Amino acid sequence: MAVRLRWCEFEFHVRLVKGYYRSSRTIYTSCSSSYCAQGRPERKHKKYTNTVALPRTDFPLRLDSQKRIDRDIYLYEKCEFSTLYTWQRKHVKGPEFILHDGPPFANGKPHMGHAINKILKDIITRHKLLQGCQIHYVPGWDCHGLPIELKALGGQTNLSPVTIRKKAEQFAREAIGGQEEAFRSWGVMADWDKCYFTFDKDYVKNLWQQFYALYEMGLVFRDVKPVFWSPSSRTALAEAELEYNPTHRSTAVTVRLLMRKVPDPIRSLIPQHGLPVFALIWTTTPWTLPVNQAVCFNPDLSYSLVSIAGHSGEVYIIASELVEMLRQKLCRQIDVITTFPGGILAGASYVHPCRSERVQPFLPAAHVTAGKGTGLVHSAPAHGPEDFLVALKHSISIECLVDEDGCYTEAAGPVLRGLPVLSEGSQAVMDLLSADILHSEQLVHSYPYDWRTKQPVILRASCQWFIDTNAVKQKAIEALKTVKIFPEDGSSTKSGGGLVSQLERRPYWCISRQRVWGVPIPVLYHKISGTPLLSMSLINHLCNLVNEHGRDFWWTLPLDRLVPQAVLAEHGVALDEVEKGQDILDVWFDSGFSWSYVLSGEKVADLYLEGLDQFTGWFQSSLMTSVALRGHAPYKAIFVHGFAVDAEGRKMSKSLGNVVDPLDITHGRKDKKHGPAYGIDTLRWWVACHATQHSSVPVSRTVLEASAEAVHKIRIVVRFLLGALHDFPSDVDESLYFLDRYLLHLLYDTDQQVNQLYESYQFNRVCTTLTNFVTNEVSALYCHLTKDRLYCAPVDASERRACQLVMSRILEVLTRSVAPVLPHLAEEVYLCHPYKKGVRLFQSGVSKPLPEWHQPEVARVVNLALEVKRTLNKLSPVTNTQQLAATVFSSGETLTLLKMLQEEEHSCWSQLTEILQVSSVMLVEKRSPLKFHVELRETLQQICGRCRRFTAHSVDEPCDRCQQVLDKLRVVV
Ligand SMILES: [Zn+2]
Repeated sequence: MAVRLRWCEFEFHVRLVKGYYRSSRTIYTSCSSSYCAQGRPERKHKKYTNTVALPRTDFPLRLDSQKRIDRDIYLYEKCEFSTLYTWQRKHVKGPEFILHDGPPFANGKPHMGHAINKILKDIITRHKLLQGCQIHYVPGWDCHGLPIELKALGGQTNLSPVTIRKKAEQFAREAIGGQEEAFRSWGVMADWDKCYFTFDKDYVKNLWQQFYALYEMGLVFRDVKPVFWSPSSRTALAEAELEYNPTHRSTAVTVRLLMRKVPDPIRSLIPQHGLPVFALIWTTTPWTLPVNQAVCFNPDLSYSLVSIAGHSGEVYIIASELVEMLRQKLCRQIDVITTFPGGILAGASYVHPCRSERVQPFLPAAHVTAGKGTGLVHSAPAHGPEDFLVALKHSISIECLVDEDGCYTEAAGPVLRGLPVLSEGSQAVMDLLSADILHSEQLVHSYPYDWRTKQPVILRASCQWFIDTNAVKQKAIEALKTVKIFPEDGSSTKSGGGLVSQLERRPYWCISRQRVWGVPIPVLYHKISGTPLLSMSLINHLCNLVNEHGRDFWWTLPLDRLVPQAVLAEHGVALDEVEKGQDILDVWFDSGFSWSYVLSGEKVADLYLEGLDQFTGWFQSSLMTSVALRGHAPYKAIFVHGFAVDAEGRKMSKSLGNVVDPLDITHGRKDKKHGPAYGIDTLRWWVACHATQHSSVPVSRTVLEASAEAVHKIRIVVRFLLGALHDFPSDVDESLYFLDRYLLHLLYDTDQQVNQLYESYQFNRVCTTLTNFVTNEVSALYCHLTKDRLYCAPVDASERRACQLVMSRILEVLTRSVAPVLPHLAEEVYLCHPYKKGVRLFQSGVSKPLPEWHQPEVARVVNLALEVKRTLNKLSPVTNTQQLAATVFSSGETLTLLKMLQEEEHSCWSQLTEILQVSSVMLVEKRSPLKFHVELRETLQQICGRCRRFTAHSVDEPCDRCQQVLDKLRVVV
């Protein structure tokens, strides 16, 4: 049953009328300023309370703590949140809007980052649904990868691959369960019955097919290359799995290498025949010196032959531009004997720094500069991409002395064997070479770390699978030009530019990993030659096996089951000549192909929406794969959001102990005083207000309180509007006041503006626009000015119905406008709506304000009246201007406009008295340089006990209008 509300509950926006007592009688005018009204004693008017049409509604005003939690659950069930997605797929016939979900890692509990991501997505899809679009949104999870494998292992070693996979799968499933429950509870509308998981059989089969398609196109290849290698994780890493530590310390050394063959032109310049000649090199990775294979020089640089004080009987070669730097570094006198062009060094050779029996070449290379070091670069092709390319060019076979744990191998010799290269190994090398190290220094610089273990990585050559990104990057950069990147404020565009420059820098993408929790690379190898055996028939066979035996078959079935005779025959090999691959696919390869699994055919997503970091991750991997296979980007637009930070702006992390659980926000902390239950809609409002415009999204008590307050303000207003409509017959055709039409005009404009802000994903501005509209136009203006009509006019009077009609429109537009952000509140409004009971807002189709509501000429009239009102309010010394009789002097057009609001010269009941909130208005024609001026007097009328307006003839009687209402009600007072 609807609750009859107390009058004062609706006075939230109005300063309550207080009795004023005055003794003198003066006049205040807007020109001369003189007035006083006689005060009157306030009377109690309770006897009329039952005769006024107070609002009624069962929409609760305030929900605290457990009641709020219960209400969210009740609304979720009652308003069919869980079946909305299926409903709209069936019933909405508009254009399809595809938001393709970037799969979160199934590696932990739901956190604020998830809340930001999923709620932003839901705001967009719900907005699009209200615009008549059919939504395509299939949530997914990234189920493989090292973090899950490591957490599942929990420090245990020596487990079999199948045991590790079982544990990892169980861990991932539990994480997915927890995350899905939270995502659903936040009201996220999605195809929850058909989520995609990267460990699903069908997903795996699709990946193998795509892998093979790329292989057929020549875009996937296997090769030995230096790749980022994490000794702490024992696997190769992609660029996206690195984080750079700007405070990493390395020891840099300047080392001399004894030259064996000194080109004649140089030898002839040496003052004393037979002096040993040394080349000077500089490196920040002394641990790579044992695998030195060449020294690179730049033929375009000038080099000098120098003598160094304290090293008599020796001469050194260094780039001429770097002599001074060396002088400062060594604090020794250095004399330049002569200079010569770099080209002369071609054909020179030197003795290996660690192995005196080996003589190695000097090689020309363009990457050598005179920016730092010595202008002669120590080259270890196994540990540097440029070194690798030089070696490739000169057909030098690559040597690697570092194993998967980042330790020296047997081949490195007894002193170094087994030592970790980044610590003891590095020191051991420096000890070995101490006689040849001229200088060593500590260097603080930016160095790549494994983003999961937070340990430094190394570059290490190994046999890996690659995608030839070079071959697709131009197409990818071209495809990106048609992609819109939001927010459009420049910050994201900059990151978009970063995406392009990264594409340009990345020559290949290493897609193999040496772990077990992932999709096996479906390849067999020839045992001796290492040639990969890969064919469509093998892929088809493996797809059948996964159907038949499940995901672990690669590790459980014997080789003869993995490879059928037909495939062996196809490659002309016997079973005992082949072995299966031990690598799995990079998780970025898994998720990078999600478009091909979730979007059938040539479909392109309208939007990809993820955090800023995905410019180097999923946005990029998806772009590369789609461009490679389909020639275009998988998305039409990208939207990036920031990351949750604490009140001090620090990123949330377990080690800092500042992680906020979204459940603490929605359901409250155990200690409710320190963390009340804000409910789902407040969480959503917080996301909308803060997550779209900055890279840091603050989570603090203050911002959450502000969000709760804003949601509550809207709640109060919609409750008032619902109450005002309690006896509205829903369909009336009344002539509207100017003020009514003015509100429809504002409503139309606000709706247009809000829609445009939703379309450009500026949800923070959606929230501000709606809050301002609700506070200023709806609450403080319209609801305040029309309350006499609403409460005190005869219930079926045209002016009251007109007011209700406008309020019903405001409620409709406002509810629909906030609905994408506050779906619980919006559905609750419909649930308590006097004539929409049983209708679900999100299933009610498209409803838009009519263009004829837009009436600038009406706005002109009402704006003038509001200008008069502002002047009047400034002039009035009393809070309750109803005590005043106003005279407005004007002429010409101003008078004509004002007359539209009051035809008579003097009135107590005109539209103008309603807007000005006075007892009566006198309109007087008077020419003046001012547009108008106002005079105020105390009214001669008495306060009406029923309507509280000063429109009665005596203090003991109600005013004429109220008397008529009472007569009709046959109320004897
Ligand atoms: Zn009255």
